[in-house]
Amino acid sequence: MAKLIIDKDFIRRIQEISNQKLSDCYQCGRCTAGCPFAAFMDAPPNQIIRFMQLGMKNDILTANGPWFCAACLVCQTRCPRGVDIPRLMEAVRTLHLRAKEGLLDVSAIDKTLLVDAPPLVLMSGLYKYAD
Ligand code: SF4
Ligand code: SF4
Repeated sequence: MAKLIIDKDFIRRIQEISNQKLSDCYQCGRCTAGCPFAAFMDAPPNQIIRFMQLGMKNDILTANGPWFCAACLVCQTRCPRGVDIPRLMEAVRTLHLRAKEGLLDVSAIDKTLLVDAPPLVLMSGLYKYAD
């Protein structure tokens, strides 16, 4: 696990960008139980929210969950507290992209992929990785 750094300002920015109140989450785990990508994440959705509640900036920024999240909204529909988890995941990606981390170099994409990939995949990829 990454070194513990508590950064309340970072957490305030996550709440501001996502327009979510982290204290609404009571860690029931229903979001993670329904997430189709939780098995691929090093920290599942409820754990990422717990990192956020505790102000564990390093653990949030090194988690792969925000990148695996497909914004399918399953977690949001299952959450008894109405927490919009995809927005929280997007807030983390936004902070990465603002720091110029994880940016996609569109010119470096293999042109054969551009021909064969479904347009929806390209659009969602560009939305996720480009600022
Ligand atoms: S379903 Fe909602 S309340 Fe339960 S752990 Fe997930 S975000 Fe928190
Ligand atoms: S929106 Fe993201 S975190 Fe929520 S269930 Fe879908 S993939 Fe998982």
